[in-house]
Amino acid sequence: LRLSRNINYPLRAAGIFSNYLQQRELKNTPERFIILNEIVRMRKHFEADSLLVQLRIKNKKISRATIYRTLELLIDCGLVKKNKFNTLHSYYEPVAALGQHDHFICLACGKIIEIYDKSIMNIQKKLQKSHRFSVLQYTYHLYGHCAACKRNPNRYE
Ligand SMILES: [Zn+2]
Ligand SMILES: [Zn+2]
Repeated sequence: LRLSRNINYPLRAAGIFSNYLQQRELKNTPERFIILNEIVRMRKHFEADSLLVQLRIKNKKISRATIYRTLELLIDCGLVKKNKFNTLHSYYEPVAALGQHDHFICLACGKIIEIYDKSIMNIQKKLQKSHRFSVLQYTYHLYGHCAACKRNPNRYE
């Protein structure tokens, strides 16, 4: 894993979020930072409701509305990315903590596998140059079957 280079990430993320809130004249409420801390420490994909459950287990009383609102703010300031891998669920992930990556999504069990490969970015750079196009955002999701589901196709039927 290549998470070690982002060792100061939690602190940096809190700084970015705090500046963002200040610029928009929004309050630095403790709830917002509790949510951010939880997300940064998870370092994986999550759903809004599982975040809510996780915070409840830790006895943090934060409403569902506050979680959704805070997630929107975190997306807006670039700390969190929202992925829709299927029609049922939206997944969130801390952007910088995980680094640039793409996804394999298993259509049978829903497993999400992070793919880290610099060559994907290199191809993009090349194409941008030859087409004189500036990419501002991109989505690259590859759907199929994970190793376990491929071995046993009836696993999730
Ligand atoms: Zn699977
Ligand atoms: Zn991911």
